[in-house]
Amino acid sequence: MSTIKQEAQRCLKCKKPQCALNCPVETPVPQVMELFLNGQTKEAGEMLFRNNPLTAVTAIVCPHERNCTGHCVLGNKGEPVEFFRIEQYISRFYLETFEAPEILKNGIKIAVVGGGPAGIAMSMMAALKGYEVTLFEAQDNLGGVLRYGIPAFRLPKDILDMYKDILLSLGVHFRPNTRLGASIGLMDLFPDGYKAVFIAAGTGRPNRLGLLGETLGHVHFAVDYLKSPENFHLGRHVAVVGAGNVAIDAARTVIRREHAHAMIINFKGEEEMPANRDEVEMAEMDGVEFMHHAQAVRIMDDAVRCVRVNRIEAEDGSVTYEEDFADTFDVPVDSVILAIGQGPGADVNASALEVDKKGLIVVNEWGETNLQGVYAAGDIVTGPRTVVEAIASTKKAFQRMEEYLQQG
Ligand SMILES: Cc1cc2nc3c(=O)[nH]c(=O)nc-3n(C[C@H](O)[C@H](O)[C@H](O)COP(=O)(O)OP(=O)(O)OC[C@H]3O[C@@H](n4cnc5c(N)ncnc54)[C@H](O)[C@@H]3O)c2cc1C
Repeated sequence: MSTIKQEAQRCLKCKKPQCALNCPVETPVPQVMELFLNGQTKEAGEMLFRNNPLTAVTAIVCPHERNCTGHCVLGNKGEPVEFFRIEQYISRFYLETFEAPEILKNGIKIAVVGGGPAGIAMSMMAALKGYEVTLFEAQDNLGGVLRYGIPAFRLPKDILDMYKDILLSLGVHFRPNTRLGASIGLMDLFPDGYKAVFIAAGTGRPNRLGLLGETLGHVHFAVDYLKSPENFHLGRHVAVVGAGNVAIDAARTVIRREHAHAMIINFKGEEEMPANRDEVEMAEMDGVEFMHHAQAVRIMDDAVRCVRVNRIEAEDGSVTYEEDFADTFDVPVDSVILAIGQGPGADVNASALEVDKKGLIVVNEWGETNLQGVYAAGDIVTGPRTVVEAIASTKKAFQRMEEYLQQG
């Protein structure tokens, strides 16, 4: 494998860099490479952070094959440049050597609801511009899904501690264990002097399958399990229903923590799994087993009843899936983990905010809600997506929020 310097030297610094143009936050890849190769690592880090405050995280968890790496022109005939490896080094170095700049406070208070990637990004951008930020977080620590979802073997948690230290050094007030909508409501914030509110509450509520057996004691939702796997005792045989990235994270965690047999039950075929290809590969390497073309129809005390699913390809190439209820079989289990998507919690819906029928907050392209001075971005607006997409929508919301605050 090339060193990261050799990797940076391979970059062609294209005039129209496809890597940057296909990144949701348009990371200025050629300029960062240039600074890095000039020995200006700190400046390269500054450029990355100003563009994307979560660069140290996205460098690790982004689906690079869909964004920068996947669009590198060198990949057309050979090996694409793995910019994310260089970004990992630069951004971690920047975090480790961060010194808070002198900031002239402007006296304007803003409230940020939710301490996931969107909330962290907003807090950092606003604090650096002199706003007085209070960050409300329902959990006991900062990070959202980064801390309470993505396993530590994929994303080291010390990065989140560094982010927390930086936010505190920038003067951000952090209120952990404080769920907006419980004792304090959205409309309590304005009388206390907040001029704007940014909501980034994510989609932490797991979807259910609607099957008999879902409330049984050995059945758990993947996002609940991943919050604190150490509190669960799953036994030797665990079935994970679902085939997205969350299902993969749950199965890989089961193998590590429980030393158990983990089986993914996938409705469609191997090629149609929604999880990233490299995650699926890693799961296979870990020893996760896959049962494709199977649908769970009932959960019992010691087994999941499944039916076979047939893939039917029509002449025009369109594909449909049909359960064959005559072909049933039982998968023996000690525990079951359900990973079939998430939606927003109920608390933010309780206010006068406009939400759609799924409960996602309705905004315009600039993150403005129906309430004056209230903005939203991240998964609570789009539904479950990716970290980098949450940052992209947060940047837009911050831009519009600033225009609003500077007017008044
Ligand atoms: C298991 C798992 C693995 C994933 N893997 C990847 C990956 O590899 N790469 C990738 O790019 N994306 C991944 N994602 C998706 C990614 O994590 C999300 O898109 C991203 O975290 C969304 O950021 P957010 O800030 O909008 O929401 P979240 O990260 O969900 O943060 C929302 C925060 O708001 C808090 N909150 C909720 N309600 C309130 C309230 N009323 N008051 C105060 N606080 C509140 C929550 O406690 C939470 O901390 C994964 C998701 C999961 C679940």
